[in-house]
Amino acid sequence: MLAKRLPTILPTLSPAESIETTRIYSAMGRLAPGQPIMARRPFRSPHHTISEAGLVGGGSTPTPGEISLSHNGVLFLDELPEFNRRTLEVLRQPLEDRVVTISRALNSTTFPADFMLVAALNPCPCGYRGDPRRSCQCTPPQVEKYLNKISGPLLDRIDIHIEVPAVPFQELSSGASGTSSQDMREQVSAARRLQAERFHGLTTRYNAQMTTRQIRRFCPLDKECAQLLKDSVNELGLSARAHDKVLRVARTIADLAAAAEIAPVHIQEAVNYRMLDRQFWT
Ligand SMILES: [Zn+2]
Repeated sequence: MLAKRLPTILPTLSPAESIETTRIYSAMGRLAPGQPIMARRPFRSPHHTISEAGLVGGGSTPTPGEISLSHNGVLFLDELPEFNRRTLEVLRQPLEDRVVTISRALNSTTFPADFMLVAALNPCPCGYRGDPRRSCQCTPPQVEKYLNKISGPLLDRIDIHIEVPAVPFQELSSGASGTSSQDMREQVSAARRLQAERFHGLTTRYNAQMTTRQIRRFCPLDKECAQLLKDSVNELGLSARAHDKVLRVARTIADLAAAAEIAPVHIQEAVNYRMLDRQFWT
């Protein structure tokens, strides 16, 4: 449910983004009759039985896959460990480059693939691990085998890992309303405006796209923040890539709070989102 709501809090498609996404759908004959352009961010959720070509693109005449249909939108992979491991591994290159290149003997074709990846997985094969109301029957080796289906390098490329505990039925049915999507979208748009000013004149559009050099320039840390980050990296054994991700996410948390400088509390929150690096299953 959270994943499906994500496009509702993202900024509306800019005219340039709308054209990019429309070109892909048009080329694939996926525009509905009477629908001249893609006005909303796409949300794609392919089944875990999808082939490698279906996900990233392929075929003798290269055709875009789900990652290109998700361009400027969200790609949601539910039950991540059920996907073919090899199929997931081919996501690594487009996640880094935001385009996918399909090579053939005589030529290669590049398709846009700038999507937000959202993936969900259970804490164990039965799904009840850590649930106070039901007991989990899985053995530690079963849990390890299940979670090991996701490779470290793929996890490393995911910015935010978060545990979503089961919501008690009373809370679901209480009718209490939280922050509306409309309010959240305004917060997100305000943060994006700060980023547009920050990256004015650069090809980088938002924090997630910052290069290591840009991180050094745009995410200066005071002594306390630098020490906190250093300690966290050592304690959690974070990779260089995860270190940079913590800084990009901390910058975004600071932007959402309209804070000019990254503060220790922003670093702490960003580090907390590296949950799977901490191997929460051990
Ligand atoms: Zn279990």
